[in-house]
Amino acid sequence: MKLHEYQAKGVFADAGLPVPESRLASTVDEAVAAADEIGYPVAVKAQVQVGGRGKAGGIELVESETEARDAAAAILGMDLKGLHVDRVLVESAVDFVDELYAGVTMDRAKGDPVAMVSTEGGVDIEAVAAENPDAIAREHVDPDSGLQPYQARRTVFEAGVDREVATDVARVLTTLYDLWAERDATEIEVNPVMVTADGDVVCADAVMNVDDDALFRQSELAAMEEEAAGDDLEAKANEYGFDYVRLSGNVGIIGNGAGLVMTTLDLVDHFGGTPANFLDIGGGAKAERVTNALDMVFADENVDSVVFNIFGGITRGDEVAKGINEALAQFDEIPKPVVVRLAGTNATEGMEILNTDLVTVEETLESAVERAVEYTEGDR
Ligand code: GDP
Ligand code: MN
Repeated sequence: MKLHEYQAKGVFADAGLPVPESRLASTVDEAVAAADEIGYPVAVKAQVQVGGRGKAGGIELVESETEARDAAAAILGMDLKGLHVDRVLVESAVDFVDELYAGVTMDRAKGDPVAMVSTEGGVDIEAVAAENPDAIAREHVDPDSGLQPYQARRTVFEAGVDREVATDVARVLTTLYDLWAERDATEIEVNPVMVTADGDVVCADAVMNVDDDALFRQSELAAMEEEAAGDDLEAKANEYGFDYVRLSGNVGIIGNGAGLVMTTLDLVDHFGGTPANFLDIGGGAKAERVTNALDMVFADENVDSVVFNIFGGITRGDEVAKGINEALAQFDEIPKPVVVRLAGTNATEGMEILNTDLVTVEETLESAVERAVEYTEGDR
């Protein structure tokens, strides 16, 4: 589960971390009122869960009521990297001289948490890690003892942070680590930590991801989940009870079983395509579930073709085929070509039933995936 910036900053503030004064707004008038209360200049920030909002036009710094109104009007309702912006965070602007990075995550290779600091903040940290890994100071943490103050100071000095602010930055890092451990976070990232001319340290952005399997004991965070669902399609998937992950490609994938879906993803890649999603509709494939799945995949504007990978077990292939026919019959027009591969119990009967006016039936998984990838290339 990913928290929104405003939610993560609320958690940060409760833990005593320095965050700018801010208010959440969902209308232009609310945003202007918030800005007036906080006092100018303010930053108006889109609350969607994507990185790089600044570059994408989702953040504006404003000096007056007129500017605040224009900025809120421009950002609210905007489509930011595929996500609809329905709320902005209006925040006291920070006049900074330096942007740092601080974060805590799990180093899976080492099997320990790792705390990180860099003076190359305010830019894409993955790019820094790839091009200039030495610019990020790292400290592995023994989970039994936590991040000790001396370790935090060592990391901060190793990163080359100015002495005047080193103690404050080290305190931010230990607090982030404590939050990471206590709140069952998988990742916490502050990029940038801003340093002002007066030597103040402020957490200007906040990313916090929480382990879904720990939400049962993180009731405060679990309560934020509803609003934080983020991607509209992921929220829809929750509602339907599907396991769904949106990816960046254009081949929509639907299967009944996680392993089947994973295999399909690999094959799409193998045939030179890119998966648009992982969608496991679970056991059975009643018409309603198939309709819901198709609804979701068709709603993804990146999808150019869809491949079904269904294995008939207890649910027989002919029942699944009926489900697919019924589901597709509900659409006036099939918006994107659909390829079906059926295997297992009564697969042959199923393939005979499938309405080939609506779908392309392929005998093997390889040919089905290959066909779906061809369709994305406009080759019908
Ligand atoms: P992200 O682009 O989604 O990571 O959003 P951030 O909150 O990290 O903001 C991106 C960039 O916008 C920062 O690195 C700053 O350069 C700028 N920015 C954000 N908030 C402020 C602010 O309060 N004051 C100033 N001067 N710049 C800001
Ligand atoms: Mn950021």
